[in-house]
Amino acid sequence: MDRADTACGIDTSHTQDTIEDDKIHTIFMERIVILGGGESGYGSAVLAKVKCFDVFLTDNGQIKPEYSSVLERYNIEYEQGGHTEERILSADLAVKSPGIPEKAPIVRKLHERGIPVISEIEFAGRYTKGRTICITGSNGKTTTTTLVGEILRAAGYNMAIGGNIGESFAYTVATDDKDWYVLELSSFQLDGIIAFRPDIAVLTNITPDHLDRYGYVFQNYINSKMRIMMNQRPGDCFIYGADSPVLEREVPAHHLVMDTLPFSAKSNAAWGIAVNGGACLAPDNSFVASADGHSVTIDISRMKIKGIHNVCNAEAAALAALAAGVAPETIAETIYAFEGVEHRMEAAGTVNGVEYINDSKGTNVDSTWYALNSMTRPTIWIAGGTDKGNNYDDLRELAVKHVKALVCMGVDNSKLVNYFTGLVPAVYDTHSLEETMRICAEIAEQGDTVLLSPACASFDLFNNYEDRGHQFKAAVARMKEKTAK
Ligand code: ADP
Repeated sequence: MDRADTACGIDTSHTQDTIEDDKIHTIFMERIVILGGGESGYGSAVLAKVKCFDVFLTDNGQIKPEYSSVLERYNIEYEQGGHTEERILSADLAVKSPGIPEKAPIVRKLHERGIPVISEIEFAGRYTKGRTICITGSNGKTTTTTLVGEILRAAGYNMAIGGNIGESFAYTVATDDKDWYVLELSSFQLDGIIAFRPDIAVLTNITPDHLDRYGYVFQNYINSKMRIMMNQRPGDCFIYGADSPVLEREVPAHHLVMDTLPFSAKSNAAWGIAVNGGACLAPDNSFVASADGHSVTIDISRMKIKGIHNVCNAEAAALAALAAGVAPETIAETIYAFEGVEHRMEAAGTVNGVEYINDSKGTNVDSTWYALNSMTRPTIWIAGGTDKGNNYDDLRELAVKHVKALVCMGVDNSKLVNYFTGLVPAVYDTHSLEETMRICAEIAEQGDTVLLSPACASFDLFNNYEDRGHQFKAAVARMKEKTAK
């Protein structure tokens, strides 16, 4: 039966593209199983229901009440606390949430049966009439996605932000399809695409991450990230970080039929970039981004988000917005007004002339490198938490240059204490936020910066990085209140 002929069939003019073989194959399928009942999973279930599939959602953990109530509202069958294999393996198509690893037994069984397993992004991409700007990379995804979203919003586009942040892509497509989507994509979402094709793809950088999900083979993770551009065609746009050594090597090894726009936080040899399309530094502490015959110049000193990594993020965002047709003035105004995303180099307040910065999302060595690199004042650096097999060699030089004291905050700080003792003037071993803040207040002098950029996960003392950042900011606010009295 042709679904397009049914009352709730698919209007093929609304699919992302002309329908390819893969898509035709799945469009005529009947039974769909959604693995995982989180943000991405319930969104996919609602979209599948709206598109008249026979939908079943399964989660082997507990589904949040706010999500299960949506499933009930849409009359979607679901189970939680386990998987009914028989039912799952009778599906024609499975949509897997990004948190579920490929090696999960139920995923393996689906593969063994030859049942296609796709990601929410692939699924929703088949039904949107909108254009997509997709952003991936090891660091800078959320900042760049949020900034692109704000620029498009300021330009009056009918748009939504989705993917890893905000409402899921699938749910928005199901309930209020937009003309434009700005999507933050993880490598896990990209692993599950077949024909999905971003109109504009942004790849910020690639450094080792999530290797546990990629058989501890870095190249597997790189290949996964490169999938963002694999279906692109002439007329599409691929924006990438040219300063990333991995991308410098990988990009030329691919068949590039789309427009490619590199961005760089260097000026010298990279200057040709901005002339030919792309972004790089100009001589007077500004950067120039050019695409589609338009260009915008940004005075870096007027940007509220600081650090060379944020220059890269702003360059990438400016290129994506130019490629989407936004006027240069709107791009510049929005970049200057953008205050960044919470917990990423966020100004947490100034007390007695001491500036406090919350970079709680600095959960790996690479992101903390950029945080330390952007320090301009003597720095009291708060680090520590759950170590992810960190190697601190990369931070050594910057710590020696900027750090007057390291305050370690974690259950077990021995690795940090051993590494940095003797390298920086003072190292403190603390085991709670209160203790950490007390020491910072004691040793900080007017003109110093206290930087929380832990280079570690937060789970030893906090629920997550947001909790750590919120508690830090609350402690700063209390200090401020006390001094005001
Ligand atoms: P992601 O979503 O990829 O984790 P975020 O924008 O949330 O990236 O930033 C996470 C951390 O990484 C921030 O705390 C910041 O210090 C650092 N960071 C942000 N942008 C970049 C970049 N372009 N390159 C390297 N590190 C970055």
